[in-house]
Amino acid sequence: MISEQLMKVLNDQMNYEFYSAHVYLAMAGFCASEDLDGFSNFFIVQAEEERFHAMKIFNYISEMGGRVNISSFEYPENEYESILDVFKKGLAHEKIVTQRIYDLTDLATKEKEHATISFLKWFIDEQVEEESTFGSLVKKLERISENSNALYMLDTELSQRTFTPPTTKE
Ligand code: MG
Repeated sequence: MISEQLMKVLNDQMNYEFYSAHVYLAMAGFCASEDLDGFSNFFIVQAEEERFHAMKIFNYISEMGGRVNISSFEYPENEYESILDVFKKGLAHEKIVTQRIYDLTDLATKEKEHATISFLKWFIDEQVEEESTFGSLVKKLERISENSNALYMLDTELSQRTFTPPTTKE
């Protein structure tokens, strides 16, 4: 049985994942306005991933007999200084998500809620990937600096990104 407090924090995290999708859609819009359609695609796919994360928690709450509670969230940032600024903020956002997942896991551990601890393990692993993806793009963009050829090459590379939801029930 999941406690009321843990259920509330799971709901909060679900809503935060929906908010993350909005954050990345705003970034996609900024990139599109800079004619960087590959970067824009990267963030559109990222937003799809975030909605998938949110729905994963949505389904878990229902499965555990809880009640999904959708709430609204703050406005995401729509203005950025540069493409590097976008990715630095993306990385900072992912670090916040990681901390939130850790706090959630700490609470589940405190409550000896083993099913939830096991459920959250997927998110912990996912965050390693998210931080690594954003971290490596920040480094690449710092190296690219003013080299527009390299920037367009990276844009082309990121235009290939697609969203494939995991086929197993994860
Ligand atoms: Mg996420």
